[in-house]
Amino acid sequence: MFGKVSRTGFMVFVAVSMAAVSLIVRGVTWTNLTGSVEAAGDMRRLQAKLMEVVAAVRDAETGQQAYQNSGDEAWLDRFVRAERAMPLLLQELETLDRQRRISREERKALTDAVESLLASMHGQVEVRRREGAARGLEVLLGSTVKTLAERVTDLESDLENRLKKAAAGLERRVAWELRWGLVSSLTTGAVALGSGIAALLLYRDSIRQYRREAQLARAKLEAEKSDEQKSAFLATMSHEIRTPMNAILGFGELLETEVKTETEKRYVKSILAGGRSLLQLINDILDLSKIEAGMMDMHEVPTDLAELAHFIRQLFAEQAARKGLELSIVLTPDLPDSLLLDVVRVRQILLNVVGNALKFTERGYVRVTMGGGPSTGRDPAWRLRLEVEDSGVGIPADRVVDIFRPFVQSGRRSAAEEPGTGLGLAIVKRLTHLMGGTVTVDSTPGQGSVFRFEFPNVRVARPSAQPAEESDAVVDFNDLPPSKLLLADDNPMNRELVRSIFRHTHHTLRLTANGREAVEAIAAEPPDVVLMDIRMPGMDGREALNVVRSREGSARLPVIAVTASSLADDEAELRRSFDGYVRKPFSRAELYRELAPFLARHAKGGEGADLSGKTSPAVPSPASPESIAEWGKLVEWLRGLEVKVWPGVRDGMSFVEVEAFAAQLAAAAEKAGCPPLAEYAGQLHEQGRSFSVGSLERSLERFPEMISAIEQCSVM
Ligand code: ADP
Repeated sequence: MFGKVSRTGFMVFVAVSMAAVSLIVRGVTWTNLTGSVEAAGDMRRLQAKLMEVVAAVRDAETGQQAYQNSGDEAWLDRFVRAERAMPLLLQELETLDRQRRISREERKALTDAVESLLASMHGQVEVRRREGAARGLEVLLGSTVKTLAERVTDLESDLENRLKKAAAGLERRVAWELRWGLVSSLTTGAVALGSGIAALLLYRDSIRQYRREAQLARAKLEAEKSDEQKSAFLATMSHEIRTPMNAILGFGELLETEVKTETEKRYVKSILAGGRSLLQLINDILDLSKIEAGMMDMHEVPTDLAELAHFIRQLFAEQAARKGLELSIVLTPDLPDSLLLDVVRVRQILLNVVGNALKFTERGYVRVTMGGGPSTGRDPAWRLRLEVEDSGVGIPADRVVDIFRPFVQSGRRSAAEEPGTGLGLAIVKRLTHLMGGTVTVDSTPGQGSVFRFEFPNVRVARPSAQPAEESDAVVDFNDLPPSKLLLADDNPMNRELVRSIFRHTHHTLRLTANGREAVEAIAAEPPDVVLMDIRMPGMDGREALNVVRSREGSARLPVIAVTASSLADDEAELRRSFDGYVRKPFSRAELYRELAPFLARHAKGGEGADLSGKTSPAVPSPASPESIAEWGKLVEWLRGLEVKVWPGVRDGMSFVEVEAFAAQLAAAAEKAGCPPLAEYAGQLHEQGRSFSVGSLERSLERFPEMISAIEQCSVM
C-alpha cells in the first residue's frame, strides 16, 4: 500500500511539475514570439518610412529638374511639398526606430545629406526664378547638388540593405521560436498528460486497495467479534457440561470400587473411559476457545526440565513398553537446572506431542531431546529447544500445515489406540506462540516425524523445589485426621457425590444447599473446613464467605471455593479471597490435595504427627551370626544409598524411580536375608503402584529410620 501511495505521489508530482514547466515554456516562448513579431512590425514600418524619405527626395529632385528645364511653376509644387514633408519624415524615421537599427551617426549623416541636398536645390530654384534658365543651369552645374544626391542615394541603399537583412533575421527567429514553442509545449504537455494519467490510474488502484483493505479490516473485525462470541458460547457450554461431568466421573470412580461382577466392571470402565474422553474434548475446546479469546494467561514458575522429563517418562513408559517402542528422553548436560516457564503449558505441549508420537509409531523409537544454548540478553536467558522424534507413520507433505488446524486428523494409528480429538496440535501451536516460541515439523511418510520447538528467550531461574504432583488415582482420606467438613452446593448430585467420597471415612460431613444454610450451620457448630460452591441461588458463595469472615467465631475458618468456572481471572480472584480452590469436575486426589493443608494443620499433635495411622514394620532381630554380618554390610550399603540415591527418589517422587528403588531394596533384602527390609520394599512398591502419594511420601521419609533399626539389630 505504502509503495503504491508513494508511486502515485511521485506521478502526481511529475504531472504537476511537467504542467508547470509547460506553462513556463509557453510563457517564455510567447513573450519571445510577441517581441519578435513586434520587432518585425517595427522593421517593416521603418523600411516603409525610409522608402517614403527616398520617394520625397526623388520627388524634390524631379520637381526641381523639371522646373529648371521648363520654367513651369507647377513643377515647383512637387519640390516644395517634398521639401516641406522632409523634416517630419526624418523625425518619424527616428521615432519608428525603437530598436535603434539605424545608428545615431548614420541618421545624422542621412539628415545632413538630405537637408544639404534640399538647401542646394532650393538655392538653385531661387536663382532660376530670379535670373533665368541659363543662369540657373550654370548654378546647377556648379553646385554640389549632384554629389549630395549621390551621397543620399548611397546612404539610403546602405540602410535599405541593412534593414532587409535584419528583417530576414527577424523572420527566421520568429519561425524558430514558433517551432520551439510547438515542440516544447507538445513534449511537456505529453509528459504532464502521461503522468497525470499514470497518477490517476495509481490513485484509482490505491482507492481500490484502500477499499479492499477496509473491507478486509471490517471482515476481520466481524470475524473476531464472532470468534469472541463463539468463545464465550463455548466457555458457557463447557461450564454447563463440566458440572454434570463431575457427577458422572465421580460416581463412576466410586462405582468402580463397589461393583463385583466382570460385566459390571466392564460397564463402569466404559462409562469412565467415555466420560474421560468427553472431559478431554471439553477441556481441549475450552483451552482452544480461551486461547482464541485471549483469555489464556501464562504463569511462569521456576521449572526443572529434568523433573518434567521424569514425569513424561513415567507417564508413557508403560504405553511404549506395550508397543515395544524405545522411549528415550535426553537432556543436554549444559541445560540450566531451572528455567522460568509455564510448566503446566510446557507439560501440556509435551504430553500432546509425545502422546501423538507413541500413537502414530508401531515400531522403532520415540526420542525426546531437551537442549538449546544460552541466548543473548540482559538477564541470563536460554534458547530452549525441545525435539520429539519418532519412527512412525509420518505425515504426508500436503498435510503438514493442516494438522495444526482444529479437528484435522490425517494419520493412521493402531485400532487399539483411543481416537483423539484433533485439537491437540491446534492447542500446541497456539500455546507455543503464546510462550513466544515456534514449532516446526519435518516428516517423511513411512519413516517418521520430528516436531521441533524453539523458545528463543527463556529466563534462567534459581532452582527451587517444585511441589510433587499427585496422581488422579485413588487416595485415602483416612490419611487425614478425623475432621468435621461442611459442604454448601445447590446441586443435589454434587452433594451426593461428595457425601459418597466421605461415606466410608472417619470424617463427618454436613450438607447444605445454599450460602444462607451454610452460614447458619457454621454459626450453630463451626466445622474444620468448608467446601463452598460459588454459584448458588439466594446467597451465593462469595456473599456467604463475607458473612463467615465478618463473624468473630468463624473469621479464620478455612473456606475452599468449589467452582465450575474455568476462567483464569475467576481462579485468581477466588484464590485471593478464599483459602483454597477446587475446580469441577475434581478428582478425589484434587480434593485431597486442597483439604490436606487445613486438616493436617488442624490435627492434634501438630506437624510431625503420623497421619497415615500406619506404622513401619517392627524390625525383628537377625536370626544368626552370619545374618548379623550380612546385615552389617547391608547397613553400610543402605547408608550409601541414603546419601546418593534416596534424596532424589524422595524429592522427585517419580513412580518409576520409586519402583526401581523398591526393586533394588527387595533384591538386597533377599540377598542379606532381611525380611523387614523386604517388607519395606514391598510397601513402597504397593504404594507406588496404587499412586498413594501421601502414604508413599511418608514411607520414603522413614527410610533413615529403617536403616537405623536394622543397624541396631546388626550390632546386637
Ligand atoms: P489427535 O487428537 O487426532 O491426535 P492432534 O491435533 O494431536 O489430534 O493431531 C492431529 C493429526 O496430526 C493427527 O490425527 C495425526 O494425523 C497427525 N499427527 C500428529 N502427530 C503425528 C505423528 N507424530 N506422526 C504422524 N502423524 C501425526
